[in-house]
Amino acid sequence: MIAFTAQSVYTPSSTISDPVIVVEGGKITTLGGRESTSLPSNIKLTDFGDCTIAPGFIDIHIHGSAGFDVMQVDQSGRSGFERFLAKHGVTAYCPTTIAAPLDATLAALERLADAIESASANGAAGAKPLGIHLEGPFLSHAKRGVHRPEDLIVPNLRTFEQLWQAARGHVRVLTIAPELEGAPEVITEAARRGVTVSLGHSDANLDAAQRGVAAGGRHATHTFNAMRALDHRDPGILAEVLTNDNLTADVIADGFHVAPSVVDLLIKAKKLERVVLITDAMSATGMPDGHYRLGLIDVELKAGRCTANGTLAGSALTLDRAVANVMNFAKLDLQQAVQAASFNPAQVARAKGKGMLQPQADADFVALTADGKVRATVVRGELVQ
Ligand SMILES: [Zn+2]
Repeated sequence: MIAFTAQSVYTPSSTISDPVIVVEGGKITTLGGRESTSLPSNIKLTDFGDCTIAPGFIDIHIHGSAGFDVMQVDQSGRSGFERFLAKHGVTAYCPTTIAAPLDATLAALERLADAIESASANGAAGAKPLGIHLEGPFLSHAKRGVHRPEDLIVPNLRTFEQLWQAARGHVRVLTIAPELEGAPEVITEAARRGVTVSLGHSDANLDAAQRGVAAGGRHATHTFNAMRALDHRDPGILAEVLTNDNLTADVIADGFHVAPSVVDLLIKAKKLERVVLITDAMSATGMPDGHYRLGLIDVELKAGRCTANGTLAGSALTLDRAVANVMNFAKLDLQQAVQAASFNPAQVARAKGKGMLQPQADADFVALTADGKVRATVVRGELVQ
């Protein structure tokens, strides 16, 4: 049994001043005010001083960081990557695939399933993979971004089943363009299996977007990016994403992918509780300028931007930075910004016991300074060094 304290805790819906969190077996057993909580005299108490403890961040769209790509064959960089994430406040993540030749995708999914299954067994300190985000191969050619055209597949249940089998069912999020032939069937089947279906990389008009929602779509992938632009006479998918309260939406708040004022617009339209911060980070994140891999694509990192042949290719964003950015872009306070990086993504990814601090929840949390800087991260009760 160990305990943690700081100036305050965001649960994140409420604030507890002068708190204590007691942890046993990787779970929170007690959370309350220090005065009213009796602790065993010999308990080890870690004090984060003037910081606020908040639920650990959850990145539901990330391809890599620290030189590591989640699809790569050599897995030796994984622990360094997961430690890098934890240093930026992330305690759980959805490794995200991009479109690749089917065989390569299936092999990558098997490796990711291994990583997910072994993460629940071993205690190496770092962010833990929750489940896979399949970004592709069922994407629109018109809005493919840097996904290679030859790797895109028309949605069909047979391919979905192959992906599902290779991932051994560890699929949490599926990004799909709802206007494609076969998309409604795949959306319905994925939703039936408990996958969060996210509309994205899409050129859908309003009707097609609404059909995607009717089939089971519940979320939107990097809203505004790789999406048919909003036109006031031909509203398209963005009008559905912005106005349908049954849809949550995520955004890359690096200031490059979406202008700061449009991030503010998104939060105003969706309300804070339906907005999720993601990074879409790729292996170049945290590395010096140069050339890096995104799946099979060569990407150049220069001055904070990742591009392939002039098109934005993932980001070099970290989630702690996204939290600090939205405080500026949308005039949020730290508690609100934290919610969009912890509680909200946990809901979208249906991550039980994560995204909120309360008894029985996982002891995954981050100690933040008043301006959102990460002072320390704890994963399953273990301080990440
Ligand atoms: Zn992506």
